[in-house]
Amino acid sequence: MVRFVCQKCTFRFSPRNPENRDPPSKCPYCDTPGSVLIEQSAEELVKDIDDIIEH
Ligand SMILES: [Zn+2]
Repeated sequence: MVRFVCQKCTFRFSPRNPENRDPPSKCPYCDTPGSVLIEQSAEELVKDIDDIIEH
């Protein structure tokens, strides 16, 4: 399950459709355009670090 986080107001939310991994163009809470990014889970961050070490 992907989660999104707004950099402006730190509002966290999940998409209605779990298959959707594209962040919305604006925050549904504060309405700031371009402020929403994908929030990586701790597991994904650890995996990324492992990839860096291996290569
Ligand atoms: Zn926001």
